[in-house]
This record gives sequence, C-alpha cells and structure tokens, in this order.
Amino acid sequence: MSENKSIIDLAREAGNAPEAPMNPHHEQPAPPPQANSSQEDTSLKDTLASLLEKVEDKIAWVSVDLPTAGVFTNGVGSVEIRPFTFEDEKILRSIKKVSDAGNIINTLVSRCTKNLNFDDLALTDKNYILFKLRELSYGSRYDIEAECNDCGAGNKLTVELDKLPVNYATLEDSRSTKILLPDSEVEVEYTVPVASDEKFLTKTEDLMDNLWRFVKNIAGHKERMIIQGFISKTTAKDVTVLRSAIFNTDFGLQTRVNFICNECQSDSVIELPINEGFFDVS
Ligand SMILES: [Zn+2]
Repeated sequence: MSENKSIIDLAREAGNAPEAPMNPHHEQPAPPPQANSSQEDTSLKDTLASLLEKVEDKIAWVSVDLPTAGVFTNGVGSVEIRPFTFEDEKILRSIKKVSDAGNIINTLVSRCTKNLNFDDLALTDKNYILFKLRELSYGSRYDIEAECNDCGAGNKLTVELDKLPVNYATLEDSRSTKILLPDSEVEVEYTVPVASDEKFLTKTEDLMDNLWRFVKNIAGHKERMIIQGFISKTTAKDVTVLRSAIFNTDFGLQTRVNFICNECQSDSVIELPINEGFFDVS
C-alpha cells in the first residue's frame, strides 16, 4: 500500500501520529518539534538495533551461581551476567568521588545482569557479581601490592580471581537464621542484608542504629518497639553476637589471600584489596 503514497504523505503521517492529544480534555496540543524528535529517537533506536543485531548475539551472557543460592531471600539461585560494553566503561570512568562509587557500581550491576531484582540481592551475592563482572570484562589476573604482616615489605602479587574459593549456602542454612543470645538467653530470628539495605550500612554508627531492621523477631515478638528496645537494653555481648551472625556470614567469595613474603619468607595473609586496577586490564 505504501508505494501509492508520496514521500510527503508518509512524512505527514509520521508527523501527525504523535500529535493526537493524549488527553482529549487538554486544551493545548503537544508541541510538534518534540513529537518529531521523539519520532526520530524511535527510528534511530530501530536502526541501531538492526545494525547491532549480530553484536547482541555475541555479547556473551554467562550464568553464574550465586553464593547464597537465594536461600535467604527470593530463592533465585543464579543470574545471567555479561561483560562491560564501552558504554558501561564510560559510566564506570565517570566515578569522580568515592561517595559516587556506590551508586555507579549499583547501576553497572543492574545493567550487566538479566532478570535480576536488584533490591533483593544479598550483599554477599552483589559482591560476588562484581568480581565476576571484573573477570568477564578484563580477565581473571589481578595485580595487587600486599604488605607483609611480619616485616612490612611490599610484595607485588598477581591473584587469579577465578581460583578464589566460594562458599555456597544450602537450604539447610536458610533454616538456621536463628541464634540464641548468650546473656539474655533468648532466640532471635534474623535476615541477611540485601542491596536495598546498603544505605543503612555506610557508616559503623549507622550499622548499630539499624541492626533492628535485620531482626525478624525476638522470641517470637515482631513489634519494632520491642526489637529496638531489646537491642538498646541488652548486653554488649548479646549485640556483638547478633551483629556478627547478621553481617559476618561465611558465604560468598573467599577474599583472604595467602602469600610468602619475598623479603623475609614468612607466611602472610591479607584481605584482597579493591584498587584502581580492579576495573582494568592487568
Ligand atoms: Zn616479610
């Protein structure tokens, strides 16, 4: 049919369609320049999509098993991730201040994962995805400088990220998010921190003020007033045990690195640092 129409007709149709008022009671018509530019955006998008069709197939989505296996949160045990594109890398390089880093990293994790409910993602799993994205995008060799625990000498090390051990949770673990506190001798049921909780955990003092958020119930009591009241009045030992149960889980990537010092030959161990070369090719 369209061959019977002149190019002017087609242009008119294209220009008119978006001008139909969204709300019939609204007096002002939509301004045409905006309507046109959104039309252009759509056709630009279509053209790009067709040009990049083959690339889309070649962006390798890889399925990774999540360390918590979703047993504490939503039951989602794996997620598909893809390496960074040039656009992702630009977003990454836009980090100017340390305070921006958290949000930008979250954006990247969301962009490079498929069908992920980001807010439900256990923090342990988010950290794991971050390491996997690094591995996929820039390879698994990661250069670090490690200080010897004994003599303080700097040691240049290359860590093979894909060789780091991972602790996976099992269904059995999901049933054990209960702990008996030593002093009060009451049982507390708790939950693991997820990505949407990160805003409560940026500073140590925030962490203590927000501990109640991770408590489901104390000896069956679910009321916030009771949970907060209990935490503020029980012993420091109880709180330390509770905090450690919630935040120091064993699950996830094991990032402690052992090495033998070049200077004094003693055994050393460090927590793997995230340095400026983390998101870069080694
Ligand atoms: Zn040494």
